[in-house]
Amino acid sequence: MTLCTPTRYPILLSPLRAGTHLLGNRVLMGAMHMQLELLDRHTERLALFYAARAREGVSLMVTGGFAPHPDGRMDESAPVLASPIDAEKLKPITAAVHREGGKILLQILHAGRYARIARPVGASERPSRINRRPLRALDTREVWGTVEGFVRCAELARAAGFDGVEIMGSEGYLLNQFTSERTNPRSDVFGGSMENRHRLPVEIVRRIRAALGPDFLVMYRISAVDLVEDGASRTETVQLAQAVESVGADILNTGIGWHESLIPTIMYAVPRGAWRFAVAAIKGVVGIPVVASNRINTPEVAEQILAEGVADMISMARPLLADPAFVSKAAAGRADEINTCIACNQACLDYIFKGKPVTCLVNPRAGRELDYAEWHASRRRQRIAIVGGGGAGMSCAVTAAERGHDVTLYEASKRLGGQLNYAKAVPGKQEFRELLRYFARRFDVLGVDLRLQASPTDEELAAQDYDQIVVATGVRPRIPDFPGVSHPKVITYADLLDGKAQAGRRVAVIGSGGIGFDVAEFLLGQQWPAEGDQAIRQFQAYWGVDPSLRAKGGLATPLSAAPARQVIMLQRRLEKPGRTLGLTTGWVLKGNLQRAGVEFVAGCTYERMDDAGLHVRVEGNLRCLEVDTVVICAGQEPVNDLYHALIARGFPAHLIGGAHTAAEIDALRAISSGMRLAMSF
Ligand code: NAP
Ligand code: SF4
Repeated sequence: MTLCTPTRYPILLSPLRAGTHLLGNRVLMGAMHMQLELLDRHTERLALFYAARAREGVSLMVTGGFAPHPDGRMDESAPVLASPIDAEKLKPITAAVHREGGKILLQILHAGRYARIARPVGASERPSRINRRPLRALDTREVWGTVEGFVRCAELARAAGFDGVEIMGSEGYLLNQFTSERTNPRSDVFGGSMENRHRLPVEIVRRIRAALGPDFLVMYRISAVDLVEDGASRTETVQLAQAVESVGADILNTGIGWHESLIPTIMYAVPRGAWRFAVAAIKGVVGIPVVASNRINTPEVAEQILAEGVADMISMARPLLADPAFVSKAAAGRADEINTCIACNQACLDYIFKGKPVTCLVNPRAGRELDYAEWHASRRRQRIAIVGGGGAGMSCAVTAAERGHDVTLYEASKRLGGQLNYAKAVPGKQEFRELLRYFARRFDVLGVDLRLQASPTDEELAAQDYDQIVVATGVRPRIPDFPGVSHPKVITYADLLDGKAQAGRRVAVIGSGGIGFDVAEFLLGQQWPAEGDQAIRQFQAYWGVDPSLRAKGGLATPLSAAPARQVIMLQRRLEKPGRTLGLTTGWVLKGNLQRAGVEFVAGCTYERMDDAGLHVRVEGNLRCLEVDTVVICAGQEPVNDLYHALIARGFPAHLIGGAHTAAEIDALRAISSGMRLAMSF
């Protein structure tokens, strides 16, 4: 596609030379495993997914990881590229990207000791914290065989039409395991000295370059900071960067942290642009383009990193799931219309770990391009009323308006967002504001008739001759039934997060679901700004990150501030609290609360609340929790009276979101249910 003259993002949208290639701009779509890589079934889906991003101006993209050998698979079902038959299956993907004017690299990933297969292999027999399967150390001959496997894989990638390869050398996968003293105690030519430990990736790059010639793009993904004990020092990282450059790498992409690191690297709690210090250390020592990655989700942050001279290119993966048109909107001066990735991980990373095809909470069409290939304007313009401006209602309104319908959205309160407003009040979750900004802007652009502080009755709606009425009136907090529940010290999460009620110093939280955890975080009183130098310094201090990179692995001693309140979390079920939290974010939430001394009590029954406190029974024993406040986070009940009134009138209304099923206040389910209904009009 042709981009408009760049204005607000002059560097981001300017061309970049990489090897013999000229890239149209500095946006790289980083590798994401889509769980669609099983090519017999999903080639067409993948081709449409990548083509959609290329069409909207992404200049270079990288596939999810393909193993060069079955031993290197992430799991039994992960893709391998080791034969011409496999290469043939990939051709529709490269052809689709090239048709749209983009370039695409295949990522070669050997998972090493992270492989969830029967007998993983590694640099040594040292297992990882996150994969306890017994390991087999590769012998010297097998390591040379691995080098050949990477070269063969690169040759097959070229045969499949790829413009080059990304060699995955970060995040703690096999190549990282060889480069690091932490995992490499070997005494052969691949262990011992730093030069020997770097030999495996260096030989891979050297031989791929020799075998494939100058026009084949070779990008090496280096670990800019390992964030694990005994990880690489700054000197080692610099040496490796220079070594792979000297043997023919065209671009250095950067990875942040090994997967077994105890420091979050990409979720919403990480400030935007937090890792630029690690990328800057590499940029200063090589002549080839260096790519910055992780928690860069707006064109402003991307442009700023480029303007600071920290990197030459920006890798964004999830932001391009969230909005395939990120680049074209930025180029057209419509950055405020970008559907921003809120770094929740809910439908991308969490889905990968569940083995589900990836999509996106804010954009349920991501990865489903084939299902929506026939997406088009509706044949008949209809007048549609949507009552309720939470996630489900807003999503339904936008999709219906995009399809050409005449949409009126009624919201009872003064602001849009419903339960999303509670999420954005939680420290570290400010990214949820972007979702509200996106919907509000779409309403402007699409001309949705927005009526705030409006609660039409069934009679009023029925009188207006709408073709469709959608009820998305949401939920109310569930109030448990025990004596004293209406005591003045008992408040709901909604009132607390809305600022309508305050909590004292000692607080009991009833319910340990997603909202219970969010409320506990809120009560601890720590502020986690989403961006800015102060936010980054605070993040580094709390998590123990050494931005000077003097310490090995980039680690420092973590520092905690005293919590603002003493919090105790309760649940009736006798199971580990936090079981329902997201896989890739829950460990951070649980860790934060444990560090702040939050007590968890499972298997309790609520006996009563009185002036002395909350009386609970745990394992048969009565205990009085002397608290100043009890916050109820015991789930929700649907609010659907309007729907039933419309049905009673004989009007076939639609019911979506939390009003339909209280569990659908989960933003992912709410947004996708609204969109799916609007697709049917
Ligand atoms: P939830 O996850 O269903 O948790 C409700 C909690 O209330 C449970 O701990 C439950 O545990 C307790 N409970 C249920 N009925 C009760 C009753 N009658 N009396 C006392 N306790 C009761 O609901 P939520 O926390 O409100 O979250 C709503 C939705 O938003 C969920 O889909 C959630 O996944 C999503 N969300 C997720 C996150 C996140 O992952 N970080 C954050 C916010 C929201 P017991 O029954 O054992 O007592
Ligand atoms: Fe970003 Fe969440 Fe979408 Fe993943 S699911 S791409 S983290 S908004």
